[in-house]
Amino acid sequence: MAAKKSKGQKLAEEILTKREPLGETDNGLLSESIEFCEGYKAFLGNKTEREVIQYVFPILKENKYREYKPGTKYKPGDKFYKVNRNKTIMMCTKGKRPVSDGIRVTVAHIDSPRLDFKPHPLFEDAGMAFFKTHYYGGIKKYQWTTIPLSLRGVVYKKDGTSVMIRIGENDDEPSFCITDLLPHLAQNQMRKTASEVVEGEQLNILIGSWPFDDEEAKSKVKLAVMKILNDSYGITEDDFEAAELCAVPAFKPRDMGFDRSMIAAYGQDDSSCAYAEFAAELATKKPEFTTMTIFADKEETGSDGVTGMRSYFFRDFVEDLAQDEGCEVRNVLRNSACLSCDVGSAFDPAYGEVYERTNCSYMGCGPCIAKYDGARGKYSTNDASAEMMSYILGIFRDAKVAWQIGELGKIDQGGGGTIASEISVHDIDTVDIGVPVLSMHAPVEVVSKADVYMLYKAICAFYASSKPKDF
Ligand code: MN
Ligand code: MN
Repeated sequence: MAAKKSKGQKLAEEILTKREPLGETDNGLLSESIEFCEGYKAFLGNKTEREVIQYVFPILKENKYREYKPGTKYKPGDKFYKVNRNKTIMMCTKGKRPVSDGIRVTVAHIDSPRLDFKPHPLFEDAGMAFFKTHYYGGIKKYQWTTIPLSLRGVVYKKDGTSVMIRIGENDDEPSFCITDLLPHLAQNQMRKTASEVVEGEQLNILIGSWPFDDEEAKSKVKLAVMKILNDSYGITEDDFEAAELCAVPAFKPRDMGFDRSMIAAYGQDDSSCAYAEFAAELATKKPEFTTMTIFADKEETGSDGVTGMRSYFFRDFVEDLAQDEGCEVRNVLRNSACLSCDVGSAFDPAYGEVYERTNCSYMGCGPCIAKYDGARGKYSTNDASAEMMSYILGIFRDAKVAWQIGELGKIDQGGGGTIASEISVHDIDTVDIGVPVLSMHAPVEVVSKADVYMLYKAICAFYASSKPKDF
């Protein structure tokens, strides 16, 4: 029998914040989370924005989503989507209310740090052939040597047709890697700072070592590799100029820990949030407000470009929806609310000194809300208002969704931005929320399955809520 609570204990329950791990509140949550994350692991097999878009098409079709057509009179519960250049997608469920009452937006990004190919990638040196890369996003370059790499992307040929490439992950396929210096000869290297230990121009991928059989030909290893590429994909070296190819870690998503409570995989920033959004969008039936679930590109390089969230495609699409219902886009935007779903940094005891323990996020304590991010005195941040925090937390509380609130790390330790600012610039109240991640931007990142599942529940609650935004 539980001991009778003291006066102080009772008072603490009433007036102090209670934060506890999801596993303490509901130990049975793990089995539900494990089940939910089986779909997530399959989603993680798609490692570039193009692959994610290709992956969701058949699932959208199965769930009765149609391609958006301007001028259509959508009924509550109707589902539609709009794709932007094979890399960004906006998926919607029409609400009971007109869009002029606002829409409910979630946005996650489906690009992750990786090694993009240079336009002239192929070269031969010392009897070996390599691809030159230019890293994409913020990486610790030394982490990308001596790990198996998979090559992905698209190449356009001179006749205008394209070929998708995806090689290096299955057991019957060849693997690729970037070499590193042996410790025996690394005296000078080991004295360098971590940012210089491996430099950008050293991130060359080893792709072949056997020459083409011809006495007269030059660069015979390069020629032999190009012949294999020509035979397999019908491409020539010129075609790399009209290509988007990259190398990503070849690891498959794995359960982690004896208890299988975690997932170790590449690209969980931000696929963990993208999957939670996607599952919530699919589960939404007849919402009060029209939902818009966005998968964005180019977040890791600043959201620039036509497929990044600084492009007008998002606003133009909202304008289409407004026109269809004969209202002004600015009214739709003003009444809308957005969860910018991006991962947070989970507290890591090995590096505890960079976190502020009362304001950071912990593994297994639910999705982390970041009221603001930015750096150097909240510079470059969307700082969600007290009204917006009250609105969102009210929805979560009513739906019995657990959350935590945290900053990325200690003040002046660094910092980072998210898509939130690209959404709030359109006059949409926005707040960041996401799965806490260990080893963010490393070739293998770690998350708690229960956090992914709870983020899904949070987004479901946001989409299901009939509470209008009254501020
Ligand atoms: Mn991210
Ligand atoms: Mn990131």
